[in-house]
Amino acid sequence: MGAGPGAADLLTLRAATLLRAAQVVLHDDLVPQEILDICPASAQVINVGKRCGRHGRSQEQINALMVWHARETQVQTIVRLKSGDPAVFGRLGEELDALRRAGVEVEIVPGVTAASAAAAAAKITLTDRRAASSLVVVTAHNCRNESLSRTVEPARSTYALYMPGPDYSKTVQGLVESGHDPTTPCAVVSNAGRKNEEVRYLTLHELASAKGIIAPAVLIVGEVARERLSIRSEHLLAIPSVAKDPYKYDEFQVGQCGAD
Ligand code: SAH
Repeated sequence: MGAGPGAADLLTLRAATLLRAAQVVLHDDLVPQEILDICPASAQVINVGKRCGRHGRSQEQINALMVWHARETQVQTIVRLKSGDPAVFGRLGEELDALRRAGVEVEIVPGVTAASAAAAAAKITLTDRRAASSLVVVTAHNCRNESLSRTVEPARSTYALYMPGPDYSKTVQGLVESGHDPTTPCAVVSNAGRKNEEVRYLTLHELASAKGIIAPAVLIVGEVARERLSIRSEHLLAIPSVAKDPYKYDEFQVGQCGAD
């Protein structure tokens, strides 16, 4: 189940309902206490995060724990709680395979993924049709050490990079090697959707030497961030004049904007 980016009010209603009924909750490191507090006091809440404890748990141990709770105990509602959306860099596939092999029934509950929360924090439209015709969701840390893909046109795409740090110069190098211009605008968003959210607008070139970017962070790269980059140092934005009666323009707007 997806816990969203880490603010309790960005949890889906379905996720909150299931958490309230949970008897066992196996959660990742990035799920904050604010969300775990929704679980009933009687629930067994276990941190299975890789960073938990001195060595953390291997994926095989986590799979075994889920299967054991589902098959060997009387527990009815077991929640495997992951940050964001479980299907986005959440190792959902490996866990589903293990549960299917063990004949355990599962329901997947989606969550607000970090890229959506980061775009909202940075006030960026990920697929603004004037600047991007594709959205590439990618990690700077993949298990096969593959370079960033060149299958899409970087100048007309928005890249949402998960796990972009801590070596931002290496990430920038990878992006430049995959065809990005070093002057491409980007927004790096730490703790998106949370109270300690932090947004920085920079060019890729500036990002390479930026210091003090806090994890977890998502990096949004592409022309969609250009406007925000250009106003980053302005304290006051000029407020454009508004039409006196905007409804008079209805017909015109429908004709101009089409379906989207
Ligand atoms: N399943 C998660 C991603 C897990 S991978 C999702 O859909 O969001 C972990 C990475 O997600 C972090 O390294 C970071 O890049 C990103 N992340 C998770 N929560 C975040 C948040 N609140 N703000 C910014 N990035 C976040």
